[in-house]
Amino acid sequence: MSFKELKLNKAILKAVANAGYNNPTLVQELTIPLVLNKKDVITSAQTGTGKTAAFALPILQLLFDKQDAPKKGKKIKALIISPTRELAIQINNNFKTYGKNTNLRSTVIFGGTSIEPQKDILNKGVDIVIATPGRLLDLHKQDVINLDYVETLVIDEADLMLDMGFIDDVKKIERLCTKEKQILLFSATIPYKVEQLASSILKSPERVDV
Ligand code: AMP
Repeated sequence: MSFKELKLNKAILKAVANAGYNNPTLVQELTIPLVLNKKDVITSAQTGTGKTAAFALPILQLLFDKQDAPKKGKKIKALIISPTRELAIQINNNFKTYGKNTNLRSTVIFGGTSIEPQKDILNKGVDIVIATPGRLLDLHKQDVINLDYVETLVIDEADLMLDMGFIDDVKKIERLCTKEKQILLFSATIPYKVEQLASSILKSPERVDV
């Protein structure tokens, strides 16, 4: 299968080709069409399988399809939560690479560093936020971030997220977003507690196992 067959638009196909990718990986082939169809999805895939592009590419496409005129708004349309800052930074770098031919704006927020520059970027307006849970909730409490317009929420590395004790934060973040959103949950393994979290917040999810 080719990326073109996945019905990705030209701007994204060009960025993918520039990144040197010839064909989608299995997790991309199986997950991308479900995301484009606005399904909730549970994907079990290890790091290294191309799982980041499996959600980043269709999210960019869904947002790019909708956008008109140059971006000025402050509505966050996609939120990706990650258990660690390293992973969050890496995800944001991927969004920048894949979205470079679009005018979609992404940013990364995480704790353990000054909050002010993060506030400044959020105040200017972004479409996509990649965040660690604690700092995201902090910024929300300070009224710097509005999650009312999030159309797609990604919970990445869900198993690690729960191992690190973020379960309540994840549930809180889910409740802060609008009800009518798509949720994508990615996890290397799907132990019972991830299964439980998924069944408490996802709606009739499709399942991808690679
Ligand atoms: P991930 O599993 O998301 O951490 O991705 C692992 C690595 O695979 C990253 O360095 C990506 O840049 C790369 N990658 C993702 N998708 C593809 C693809 N379709 N073809 C080749 N490399 C890819």
